[in-house]
Order: sequence, then C-alpha cells, then structure tokens
Amino acid sequence: MPAPVAESAADIIVAGAGLAGLVAAAEAADAGRRVLLLDQEAEQNLGGQAFWSLGGLLFVNSPEQRRLGIRDSHELALRDWMTTAGFDRDEDAWPRRWAEAYVDFAAGEKRAWLHAQGMRWFPIVGWAERGGAGAAASGNSVPRFHLTWGTGPGVLEPFLRRVQAHVNSGRIALRFRHRIRGLHFTDGRVSGVHGDVLESTTVARGESSSRVVVADFTLNASAVIITSGGIGGNHDLVRRYWPTDRLGAAPKHMITGVPAHVDGLLQQEVAHAGAQLINPDRMWHYTEGIHNWAPIWPQHAIRILPGPSSLWLDPTGARLPFPNVPGSDSLGTLQYITTNGFTHTWFLLNRAIIKREFALSGSEQNPDLTGRNIPLVLKRLGKSPPGPVQAFMDKGADFVVRDSLRALVDGMNALTEQPQVRFETVERVVRDRDLQLTQGGGKDPQLAIIHSARRYFSERVMRIATPAPLLDPANGPLVAVKLNILTRKSLGGLATDLDARVLNQDGAPIPGLYAAGEVAGFGGGGMHGYRALEGTFLGGCLFSGRTAGRAASKAV
Ligand SMILES: Cc1cc2nc3c(=O)[nH]c(=O)nc-3n(C[C@H](O)[C@H](O)[C@H](O)COP(=O)(O)OP(=O)(O)OC[C@H]3O[C@@H](n4cnc5c(N)ncnc54)[C@H](O)[C@@H]3O)c2cc1C
Repeated sequence: MPAPVAESAADIIVAGAGLAGLVAAAEAADAGRRVLLLDQEAEQNLGGQAFWSLGGLLFVNSPEQRRLGIRDSHELALRDWMTTAGFDRDEDAWPRRWAEAYVDFAAGEKRAWLHAQGMRWFPIVGWAERGGAGAAASGNSVPRFHLTWGTGPGVLEPFLRRVQAHVNSGRIALRFRHRIRGLHFTDGRVSGVHGDVLESTTVARGESSSRVVVADFTLNASAVIITSGGIGGNHDLVRRYWPTDRLGAAPKHMITGVPAHVDGLLQQEVAHAGAQLINPDRMWHYTEGIHNWAPIWPQHAIRILPGPSSLWLDPTGARLPFPNVPGSDSLGTLQYITTNGFTHTWFLLNRAIIKREFALSGSEQNPDLTGRNIPLVLKRLGKSPPGPVQAFMDKGADFVVRDSLRALVDGMNALTEQPQVRFETVERVVRDRDLQLTQGGGKDPQLAIIHSARRYFSERVMRIATPAPLLDPANGPLVAVKLNILTRKSLGGLATDLDARVLNQDGAPIPGLYAAGEVAGFGGGGMHGYRALEGTFLGGCLFSGRTAGRAASKAV
C-alpha cells in the first residue's frame, strides 16, 4: 500500500466535495495522482447539493426512451439545446463548444459509463421543460428526463465508493471544515490554496453550520480544481447579478432552493485572482417554489415539477397568457412574472390533478425512488396523492384545499396581506376552461398541449391526469397553491476551455487552475446559455468533473 497522501505531497487539490469535486477526485486518483479533497462543511454534508437532488439525468436515445417508443436523436437534441441556449455573446465561444461536447456525451458514452458503475434509472422517462409550441421553439422536443433509481444519493453512490476506496489506499485525503479563501501562485502558476479551519459541527446535513474560525491553513499542490458550486444560496449575489434588462427588477421576495453552503464566495475570490467570470446574469431560478413545511436550510424552498394541467393564475386570479403553461418554459414564465412585478402567482387545480401531476423536486420528497422501494412507487398509481404531496396539502403554508370555488378564493385571499384574488375573475377562467374541455379541447392551447403529451404512454400513465372538468366534485376538493420565486442554479461561471482549464481575462489558461461543476457554469462558463434543458446540471457536473480530473492528472 502506498504511503498516505501527505499534505505537502498532494499533486492536486480539489476545492469542494460536491458531485463535481467527487468525480474529479476519483478520476485523478484513478490516474495515480495524490489528491486532497477539501470542503468547508463537515463530513455529513459530503456530496453537496447532489444529495438533495431528484437525480434527473438527460440521456439522448436511451434504451428507456426506445422501450417507450420515444424517438430521439443526437441531431434533435443538439437542435433543442442550441435553440434553448440562445448563445449570442462573444464570450459564448467556449460555452458553445462545451454544449456540443456535452450533447455528444449525453447521446454517447454517458449512460454506459454510469451503468458500468452500477447506476440504474426508473423505466418511465419524464418530459421536463417542454418549451414553447412549434417546431422551432425552445425546450425538449421529446421526453428525456431519466430519474436515477435512488435519486440524488443514487447519483453520488458510485463516486463516494470510488473516493472511499482511494481514501483507504491513501491516494485521496479528505479535509472537512476547510474553507478556502484564496489561491496562491508560484512563478505565475497556481501552487495551492489558503483559508480558514472552521470549528467542528454536528449540525445535520443541509443545515447551516457555524462560521467560527479556529485556525488558518495553507496547502500546496501542482494543480487546483475549483468545484465550489454556484451562488443560489446567496441572495445578495443573486440580486447583484440579476438581469434587470431581461427580467425586470429582482423579486422582493424569493425563497431558497439550495443549502446555505451554495454561497458563491470562492468563485468571487478566484475571479479576483484573475479568472474570467462570465455570464453571471444567466441564472436558472424557478417560478413554482413553495415553503417547505419542515425546513432544513433557511427559507427552504421546494420546487414543484408540475404536469401541464393546472391553471396558472396571476395575483388577481387572471390566467397567465399562453404559452405560460406549467412545465413548459421556466425562464419565459419567470420573465412574464418578474416584468409584471408580481410577488407570487397561483396554481389552481383539484385532487385528481395533484395526485398525478405534482412531483416535488428533492430526494427527501421522493422516499419511494430514493429508497428504491417498488411497492411504494406503485402507490403513485393509486387513488391518493403521494405521501409527501399530501403532507404539503395538510401542512404547507402555501396550500389551500376547499370544496367550493368561493371558499377556495377566500382561502387564497387569506394568504396575502390584502385580498387580491377576485372571485368573478377566477370563476370565469375556470368555467371557460371547463367549457372548452367538454367540447373536446376547442380553442384552449393548454388543452392541446395536454392532449398531445398524452400520446406518450409514460405521460398518460404516470404524469398527466385524464382531462376532466375542474369543478367536477368527483375530482375534488379544489386546490390552490401560492407559488414563489425560488433561487437555484447558476448558469454562468468561471470561463474554462475544453480541458476545464480556467481562463484569464485575455482568454489564456491560468497555469495549474481548473474548474468544474456549477462554479464553471457546468462547463465553459455557461454551457446552457440562457436556458437549460432539465437533467443537465448533475450531468454537467459529471462531465466537467471527469474532464477536469483527467486533464489535471495529465498535466501534473
Ligand atoms: C433540491 C435540488 C434538486 C435538484 N435536482 C436536480 C436534478 O434532478 N437534475 C439535475 O441535473 N440537477 C439537479 N439539481 C442541481 C444539481 O444538484 C447541482 O447543480 C449540482 O449538484 C451542483 O454540484 P457541484 O458539485 O457543482 O456543487 P455543490 O453541490 O454545491 O458542491 C460544492 C461544494 O463545495 C463546498 N464549498 C463551497 N465553497 C467552499 C470553500 N470556499 N471552501 C471549501 N469548500 C467550499 C460546498 O460546501 C459544497 O460541498 C438539483 C439541486 C437541488 C438543490
């Protein structure tokens, strides 16, 4: 057995032990390098955001898609990606190349690479981010969202196993509660990091931990890979970079879809040290945020991944104009909401719809898939809403459940300081929709989307309620959900070339410095452009983490 990696003898320092950091460390150690993997949080937080994630991964033309009769191709996926990304800046040169490389990966070796490491996927492929209507519209043209069996923890599992094996053999050393505050350079080359040792903590995974400093540290290595995540947990940074030109003023009220460690501070430090930070105004926040009734981190928000049947209403109860339909175009609807200055919006639906169409993003909200519990999964086909959804209906601060429309509107108005929802407006919206429905869909474009999506077996069986009048008491009670803006992903980040080398202001690689995962905009400084196809964030961490680990290993 080789001697354990001594801190003075590390080849590579990996800064952040989320998914991207774990992948990079495992790849570097596989290549024979001695790795120090540092994180500001404690051991119980290993894996970062990926632990909480739903584990949705985009594959292209997978066996799961083919079994369901979904016809997908590299060409279609690349078209969808580029239309959705909308690259239009000079600094998009590397992000665009990362996007092309990533679509190659997702249509090529991604699934086989993960499958060989033991990962498996739920056989029903979801259709997230369908985008607008029409052949030229952005979004996924077909279902591509593959849920990992075991959700986020299932994505982490193989990489935790690989890292642990290298810890046992002495090739990787883990250092927790090490908050990196900056880089140091020798002869123009990054030669290590320095920072604070934070006091030890026993807080549970995901909870905010103490920032009391007990010591400082300096660590040396031939290369440093930054994998410290995005900025979504730091509302000051989100507001600083908020794209007011495209989205209007930042919402006064936002809730938080990521733990507090997603603070963006190391990204700022690396930028101060000379790295290019590009596209920080491109962000992927959601419009369907609800307050977690059992919060783990401050202002803990859960995102609803909605099916297409709920009516989407503005604060007065008027229907949002088409194409603002649930599950279609996250950024488009965010733009509509923020440019109109709405503080919140509403979903209006009933029990039959919520039972089938509300998926809650997060591993802890899906104990059946996370626990790989087949009997519990089959309960999703039963008559009752899944347990976590029912818990929100019973205890969620944003939920109103009533038997009549009048009582529902009263309940909605009780959730705002001043009553804003007008009963007459809501009644007309609901009756118009129900009338169109009984006439086979008629002129209602949302109903056309529903009918078209139900052509897919997976959508029909698992995801979309049978179209029926909202006011039919057999499908009741009625449900209204107050929706808040939820901060989550950073689409921009540190600019990198295709070897994940961080670029300086002149576009040249900074010797010895690499970046991967969300801190690098999932590759290149923003491989998604303005908008993301869902299931491409974990995938972006896997791909860029692997690239950085391999490239840094070759270079040292
Ligand atoms: C609830 C939820 C659901 C999601 N669902 C999906 C999904 O289904 N599909 C999908 O593709 N994506 C999903 N995502 C997004 C995805 O999980 C993240 O984008 C991804 O995990 C980010 O990984 P990362 O390694 O880049 O960063 P992180 O997971 O944020 O890890 C960064 C690590 O760096 C550490 N760190 C930060 N600063 C420092 C410092 N100064 N010094 C030392 N350490 C530091 C942090 O403590 C952390 O451990 C979801 C996210 C959430 C929160």
